[in-house]
This record gives sequence, C-alpha cells and structure tokens, in this order.
Amino acid sequence: MGINTKKYIPFSRPLIGREEIAEVVDTLKSGWLSTGPKTAKFEERFAKYIGVKYAVGLSSCTDALLLALLAHDIGSGDEVILPSFTFAACANMIVNVGARPVFADIEDQYFTIDPKDIEKRITKKTKAIMIVHYAGHPCNIEAIARIAKKYNLTIIEDAAHAVGSKYRGKKVGSFSSTTCFSFYPTKNITTGEGGMLVTNNKEVADFVRKNRIHGMSKDGWKRYEKGTSWRYSIDSPGWKCHMTDMQASLGLHQLKKLDHFIAIRNDYASLYDAAFKGNKRICIPKKAKHVHHAYHLYSILVKGFSRDIFIEKLAKQNIGTTVCFIPLHLQSYYRKEFGYKKGDLPVTERVFKDIVSLPLYPAMKKVEVHYVITQVMSTLS
Ligand SMILES: *Cc1c(COP(=O)(O)O)cnc(C)c1O
Repeated sequence: MGINTKKYIPFSRPLIGREEIAEVVDTLKSGWLSTGPKTAKFEERFAKYIGVKYAVGLSSCTDALLLALLAHDIGSGDEVILPSFTFAACANMIVNVGARPVFADIEDQYFTIDPKDIEKRITKKTKAIMIVHYAGHPCNIEAIARIAKKYNLTIIEDAAHAVGSKYRGKKVGSFSSTTCFSFYPTKNITTGEGGMLVTNNKEVADFVRKNRIHGMSKDGWKRYEKGTSWRYSIDSPGWKCHMTDMQASLGLHQLKKLDHFIAIRNDYASLYDAAFKGNKRICIPKKAKHVHHAYHLYSILVKGFSRDIFIEKLAKQNIGTTVCFIPLHLQSYYRKEFGYKKGDLPVTERVFKDIVSLPLYPAMKKVEVHYVITQVMSTLS
C-alpha cells in the first residue's frame, strides 16, 4: 500500500480533538482544577449514557475496583473469584482489601471467564465474582448472574475494556450491582488517567463518593465555596482518588465521541476479520450474536508460528503490538503467596501462548489498517 513504512504504527494512540483541548484550557482558567462542576457534569452524562442512577468519578479503574470491594464489605477471610486472564489491578485490589483471589479459567472462544469454572471454585468463603469483559466483548452475563443468585454472591464488573459494549441491547454497567470503567489513554475513551464506578445502589454510591476523598462528611470541593462552612467530619478512613475537573474536561468530549469511536473500531475489526478469515495461521476473535462489541482490543491467536517471533517481525515493520494478558496466576507474587502454578488453568495458558493484540483505534488511518493486514499476512505466509 502507498504508505510510508518508516512511520511507526503504535499499538494504541488516543484521539484528542480541539474540543477537549479548549475545555481543559477553560478549566485551567476557571481557577478550579480539582473535583468540581465539570466532574459532576461528566458523572451525570456518563450515568445517563450507561443507563444507571449513579456514576462516581475516580482517578482510575484500579481505585474503582478497590472502592467497589470495600463498598460491598469484602475483606479478610473472603474469597473473590476472577479470571487470571486480566490486568494486575483486579487481583491486586482483592489482595489489598485482605481477601483471597481465586482464579478461574476462561472460555476459549471469547477469552472471558467460564461460568462453569466459576461454579467449581465456589466455597463457603466465596463472597464475590469479579468479571472482566475482555477486549470489550461482554462476559456470559446471564449464566454468571444465575450463579451469583444461587450462591448469594456479589458481582463486580471490570469494564475497563467495555465502555459502550452492549449485551442483548443493554449497556454493560447496567446489569450488576457495581461496574468499574477505565479512562487510561489506551482505553476506548480517555481522561489521561481516570475511572468511573457506576451503580444503581445508593448506599454503594454514597460510600464511594465519601471514601474517594478521605471519608469526608460532605463533598470536599464544596467546603471552599462562598458561604459554606470550613467544618467537616471524617466518618471513615477514606482514600484520595477522586476525578479532577481537568480529567472530566477530557471526558465530557470523549463521551460525546464514544459511539463514533466504537463504530470506527467495528469497521476496522471487520476489515481485519475479512482479511484473516480462513487463514490457517490466524484465529480471529469471535463475537456472540447478541453482543455489541466495543473492540477495545483486536486479539488474534497465532497458530503454527511462534507468537514471540511474530511480534518481533511486526516490530521490524514498524507495527506495535501487545499481549493482553500475562496470566496473573503465573506472576511471581501470586505463585509465591497463593501457590498457583503452571497447569492450573489450561485454557488461559493455551490462549496466552498464542495471543497477540493488533493496533486498533480511531486515531488509526484506514491505510494503516491495510498496512498491518499486509504485514501480518506476509509474516505468516
Ligand atoms: C486498564 C485496565 C485496568 C486498570 O485501569 P486503570 O484505569 O489504569 O486503573 C483494569 N482492568 C483491566 C482489564 C484493564 O485493562
């Protein structure tokens, strides 16, 4: 294709427009940089977009996961079942509240947690299931909800990949009690760093709102407003992980563009699908019929060819890729502390051996997608 191959195509790149930049400048000039009116507006619009009552802006999805666990009173002596095939934040936060992470295997077609394997790992100590909508493809929410109901378990959703994804026409985030989103720069929309916790449960929302800022009795930012008292009380030993108005400035405009961004991601994913379908060396990502996929990632399995060499060869052609994820049960801390070992989760390990995520994002040009296709095909030929 007529494209300058000297230009590196990174694995991911955010798409920030003039509107975001103007809004950040407006915030900088306003004199209010921390949590304030723009965060409140972003939260309100985000809740409306997802179709939930409450949204609370935080400094990251990691913090959202932490506060979700605390809000549901999960801690010492409890077990939380989660996939090993996820980012470290999930298991790390479970450990940080004093609970035990119990890793379950994934379904090999969608790379999401396997409901049958969840059920096998339930014990008297199990209190919650943390599910991850890998790549933006929703988990088998119905089956997982049935299990949660049967054993009286809380579902916490890690929807870091799934802002805008739908399951049977309903947005991810509107199903279970508590869902956590990420606005890290590689994710479908970004606030630089940032996260959002959504819920229909007022108690959970109040807990998170309070504990994102020191456990203060009233919105911390309001204590400096004209006519308000300087007094506040600390009702719990909270954290400090609230979203700032600078982040919300980005979020307000990114949210408006989200559906368009997802449409581009779907368009590019179908170009990849069409090019790779039928290739013996490539297993393309599958999509269930009742799913609207946000395609945060386009992850393929490389067959009959070393995945690591494939990555090196693409890098030489100026194409960035990544591997999502290195299974957590194989990470040194989780092996040492909890005794996990190779062989514990066969599907996760088999998928990890072959998986690689190709560049896919709205800041990418169509010619770049075609260049990636050409290079993938020639590397594997
Ligand atoms: C990115 C990511 C997170 C963490 O999000 P942050 O906003 O960076 O804290 C959590 N879980 C998954 C699956 C992710 O991909």
